[in-house]
Parts: sequence; C-alpha cells; structure tokens
Amino acid sequence: MTIHAKNFIAGEWVEAREMAPDLNPSNTDDVVGQFPRASAADAEKAIAAAKAAFPAWSRSSIQERHDILKKIGDEILARKDELGRLLSREEGKTLAEGIGETVRAGQIFLFFSGECLRLAGEKVPSVRPGVDVEITREPIGVVGLITPWNFPIAIPAWKIAPALAYGNCVVFKPADLVPATAHALSEIIVRAGLPAGVFNLVMGRGSVVGEAMLRSRDVVAVSFTGSVATGRKLAATCIESDPMKKVQLEMGGKNPFVVLDDADLKTAVECTVNAAFFSTGQRCTASSRVIVTGGIHDRFVDALTERMKSLVVDDALKPGTQIGPVVDQSQLDQNLSYLKIGRDEGATLKAGGELLNRATPGFYMAPALFTGVDNSMRIAREEIFGPVAAVIRVKDYDEALAVANDTSFGLSSGICTTSLKYASHFKRNADAGMVMVNLPTAGVDYHVPFGGRKGSSYGPREQGRYAQEFYTTVKTSYTLP
Ligand code: ADP
Repeated sequence: MTIHAKNFIAGEWVEAREMAPDLNPSNTDDVVGQFPRASAADAEKAIAAAKAAFPAWSRSSIQERHDILKKIGDEILARKDELGRLLSREEGKTLAEGIGETVRAGQIFLFFSGECLRLAGEKVPSVRPGVDVEITREPIGVVGLITPWNFPIAIPAWKIAPALAYGNCVVFKPADLVPATAHALSEIIVRAGLPAGVFNLVMGRGSVVGEAMLRSRDVVAVSFTGSVATGRKLAATCIESDPMKKVQLEMGGKNPFVVLDDADLKTAVECTVNAAFFSTGQRCTASSRVIVTGGIHDRFVDALTERMKSLVVDDALKPGTQIGPVVDQSQLDQNLSYLKIGRDEGATLKAGGELLNRATPGFYMAPALFTGVDNSMRIAREEIFGPVAAVIRVKDYDEALAVANDTSFGLSSGICTTSLKYASHFKRNADAGMVMVNLPTAGVDYHVPFGGRKGSSYGPREQGRYAQEFYTTVKTSYTLP
C-alpha cells in the first residue's frame, strides 16, 4: 500500500506542491508513500493558526485536555501492531522494536493525560506582612517540535503530549526519513477533538520548515532532538531571535559501558549486544565505548564475539530478524567511513562490519566490534550512530571511571559489576544524565526524566513531570488583599 499524504494546517489536511518519496530501508524497491515537502509559507500558516488558537486552548479545561490525550493514547495502543509495522517498514527497526516503540508512545500520551490533572502551583508566606505569594505555571504559547528519524513515534509523543497537556499549541516537523509514522500519529491526534490550529503537522525539510519556525516571532519555544551540529546552530538562532526563544536540545552520546573483573559475564555480554547493536545502534543512548578491566577483558571479548555470530541481520519485518538495516545510504556511508577511520587509527576490527546481501535491496551491515581502542581515537570520541562498538582496555575501576567520563557527551553511562561499592561510587560519579547498573545504557522508563549533560543535552529535561519545566512558564504573584 502506498500512502499519499498531506500536511495538517489550521484544522485542515492541505496538499503540498512538492512531494518526496519515502523508501523502505529493508527494500528500497518498496515505496512507503509520497509525502509533502512543505514551503516556508506553509510553516508560517501553521504558526499563525497555532497563535490564533492559543488564547482559547491555553484556558481549556484540564478535563478536556485529559480526555483528548487519553483518547490519543488509547487509539495508539489499540492499533500498536499496524502502527508498529508501518514504523518498522519506513525506519528499519525490527517489528518487535517498532511495536514496542508504539506501545511506549501510547503510554506517554496516557501518562500526560494524567499530568493534565496534576498540574499545581504553590501558595507560600510572604516576607512582608499581609501579602499573599502564589507561584503558578502557565502555558508558554506556540511551540515548534523538531524530531529525528530514529524514534519516529516515541520522540514525537514525548514532545507533543506534554506540549498539549500544559496548554500549548504545536507545530510539529518530523524528520524527512520518517514521515509515514508522523502522519499516522497526526491522524490519531487530529481525530481526538482538538480545536483547529492547536496541532499542526508540517512535513518538510529542516532547512525550510525548521528555519521558518526559528525565524518566526510567534514561535516562543523550540524542542529539538537530532545531531549536535544542527542543535548548536538552532540554539544560537533561538537566542539571537527577538524575542529570544526558549530552547531544549537532545543530541548525541558516546555512551560508555564499564565491565569490571567481577561482572557477571553473561549480563555484560547481553547488555552490550542490546545497547550497542539492537535498533541497529541508532539510539542516542547506544553503548559505543565498552570499557573493560584487564582481568575479564579477553574472556569478555571472546564471549561477545561468539554471541555476535548468532545475531540475525535481515529485513525488519521478517520474523526472526534481530537487527534491521541501517536507515539510509548516507548513514551507511558514515558507518563504513568510521570503520576505515578506526582501522587507520590502529584499532583492530575484531568482528563484523561487512555489507550483507539479503533477498531485497537494503542497507544491511553486520554489527562491528573494534578492540585495542584508545579513548583518544576518533571512533571513541565521535558519535557514529550505527552498530559499531569500541572496546577500550583499562587496568582498574578508577581508570574505567576516568575514561567513561572523558568525553564531550554525557547522556547515559553504564556499569556491569557485582560490587555494591563500585556500583554506588559509579552512580555518584558518572558524569551523565542517566546511569545504568547491570542494565543496558539504552532503554529507559517513560515516567521519569530523560536527558544528559555536556554536549548531549541543553535546557530542561524531557519526560515525566520534569517535562513541565520546558512546556510551562512560572509566574510569581504578590497580592495585598
Ligand atoms: P539526523 O542526523 O538525526 O537527521 P539532524 O540534526 O540533521 O539529525 O535532524 C534532526 C531534525 O532537525 C530533523 O527533523 C531535521 O529535518 C531538522 N533540521 C535539520 N536542519 C535544520 C535546521 N537548519 N533548522 C531546523 N531544523 C533542522
């Protein structure tokens, strides 16, 4: 089935003048659909509609918002198989991963339907006699939501749901590579009964639609997930704009996973395989540096290499596939270029990295493992965003912690150990927004904050009740009755 999609602007589905095909990375002969390449004028229309809808929506009842978000969450969950299949077809993660991510999106909408009812302020005593002080939270206005291709439904959900829950109007620009999932999600959102203009879908290029949002005086805040280079530029534009925009960035990672001598070997191997290679390594929380102490190093590398032989790389929708294709040719080229960089730098490509032929034309690559890596090498410092892991040998826990923290990123940091002492020390001293003990660096809950430090994130945290920091603004009122 081929989709012919439209944008949703000012309460209507709108044809675009320019369209672009969306290809299945497991089979590039399969065209998922034709999707709009919106113009800057389309984006401006959406922003104007969102601005016009804001006064009424910002005052809508919390019951109305709860009911709408609940309806969206319920429909996503009821249709998880079909939506998950569409997601896997266009992005290339396995069907199980696609359905799992869809369930996550449904759960996020249900979580924020509850949050609508829990928003609260504070009434505190004043230092001045007779004065009342109240601290309340208000919606911020029109928010621009710019999302990446690697989580086509969960990331849009964790931005759109809190934006709407706290009374904001949305202009949503999904990544060019995954418009079909964005479109299917938007159809569900639109059917749930939002007033015209509250939610707008504008599919198109970052350089056109994204830039139009950044230029607009009427977009007050931008939440972005994507690359460091784009995030940095985008934040600079938000700060330079008049008025300045609030900005939230989620970007890359170079996440360490420390394996100590006393680790359970099976746990260490499974956590590494999961976080480094599942979802084709295309997660900002992926383990890309595996930092291993000397006493377990050789046993660990042997067991991991053996385990990698059994990983099934194939069509994302084929039963039994454990790792789907890379998302597109340019990402595959990037992965391959890092394999060359790693070898040129003197690391050993211990396993994988080959291009694979399957029944259909797709971007298939065997997960790759480097050993003999030094933390100063480019493959240990730059985000690859593919199924490539680098093993760094260290002598002890202290060196492992130092190497783990020696990075310009700080999203997720993991350790595998049976020692309470090292686990506790690592939790306190890992310079990252999220720490995992005996768990993969990737894979998080949806009701707690998500985000990192240093070059990984900028601005308030996403998800859980912490999301209100970005999607509301605080007002302090003083009254002398
Ligand atoms: P990725 O490598 O994940 O595609 P990008 O940072 O290139 O990372 O893209 C993330 C999102 O940002 C996408 O939706 C993309 O279209 C958008 N984007 C890209 N360039 C710009 C830009 N100049 N302004 C605003 N958004 C942009």
